Amino acid sequence: MRTFRPQPKEAPEVTSEANTAAATGTRLDEFLPFHRPHLGEEEIAEVVDTLRSGWLTMGPKTALFEEKFAAKVGASHAVAVASCTAALHLALDALELGPGDEVVTSTYTFTSTVASILYTGATPVLVDTEASYPNMDPGAVEKAITEQTRVILPVHFAGAPCNLTRLGQLADDCGAVLLEDAAHALPASYGGRSIGSIGHATAFSFYAGKNITTGEGGMLTTDDDELAASVRMKRLHGISRDAWKRYTAEGSWYYEVETRGFKYNMTDIQAAIGIHQLDRIDGFDERRRRIVSIYDELLGGVPGLVVPHPPDRDACAWHLYVVRVEEDRLACTRSDIIEMLKADNIGTSVHFIPIHMHPFYAERLGCVRGDFPNATSAYQGAISLPLFPAMTDADATAVCASLRRIMEEQAR
Ligand SMILES: *Cc1c(COP(=O)(O)O)cnc(C)c1O
Repeated sequence: MRTFRPQPKEAPEVTSEANTAAATGTRLDEFLPFHRPHLGEEEIAEVVDTLRSGWLTMGPKTALFEEKFAAKVGASHAVAVASCTAALHLALDALELGPGDEVVTSTYTFTSTVASILYTGATPVLVDTEASYPNMDPGAVEKAITEQTRVILPVHFAGAPCNLTRLGQLADDCGAVLLEDAAHALPASYGGRSIGSIGHATAFSFYAGKNITTGEGGMLTTDDDELAASVRMKRLHGISRDAWKRYTAEGSWYYEVETRGFKYNMTDIQAAIGIHQLDRIDGFDERRRRIVSIYDELLGGVPGLVVPHPPDRDACAWHLYVVRVEEDRLACTRSDIIEMLKADNIGTSVHFIPIHMHPFYAERLGCVRGDFPNATSAYQGAISLPLFPAMTDADATAVCASLRRIMEEQAR
């Protein structure tokens, strides 16, 4: 299979030969980005076919992508939308959340998890993560539950499923809905069941940086027929029937707006990519696990460096490999380490700056310094290393050599 990889100027193609023959110390000859999407000829051909077909949006490709996705995660319904943020917002809107309602979620997430709650007028109630892994702490959730709690919204950080047994129990006990942010968790499982088939509804992301991509895109899965029907209607203006049905021979010009809707649908151009990304998912997963095993093996004993320990390694989607540098054991900061890696031609990122540390949320939600100590310390020193299927084993080894050298030089 021939593969297509975009080659922007700053991030040229990386080959194993190039990196093993590093010219200066541990520096890679060519820049290794933190992430690069992997798209093949099949995706390109399907997009071209879509462009030629005349059906650009909400047509047969979207329907096929939904069908394949639902089968993949074992859900009755999969509704394709513009993004994971849109999926979360639509689910919350369909559940009729509004002012006075509360949604309990993790502070260790991307802004859009919490923004989607604010869109509805409901109040986000942040909770801390567990000390051992930055997934929301069920004990903290239990304490945060009030009469107003309508939804519990866990985030499966880096693809490691939260404790859904306890969170599901807590939701049941207070009559709340379990809505999962699974932007990182494809393919992941909990207790032998796929993420996407467990909570009341689950939101996935196909943003360019996620485990599979449609450029931009998202999916909501659920077994609830009514919720699925409502989200289907709300994603396209609240109109009773999808556009493509209206314009086919059996359709007509007539439509009715039945509910408050949004413009959150997916296009067939995106779905065309998604159909083939979905076919690649097991191969992608295998490559991610291989890179992770190299990182685990070569970084495990590096002083001052903590490697990630998700509660169930096998069930994890390994969206990210987040190490933590212990700044109190170093002569420099996390930021300096990131710069030194960059000087060695290695791209990294940081996941996440906790929600309560952003000025907007701190003010809006009344957070104070010292809130959420576990999430705050998970953030301090966190560095996400390059992890994507097109990386070679040699790339991963080169990252380890560089990081080990830097850590040894900076140890104190
Ligand atoms: C990327 C991400 C989102 C948002 O996904 P979009 O598809 O870009 O809207 C939501 N939650 C988490 C945890 C994410 O990492």
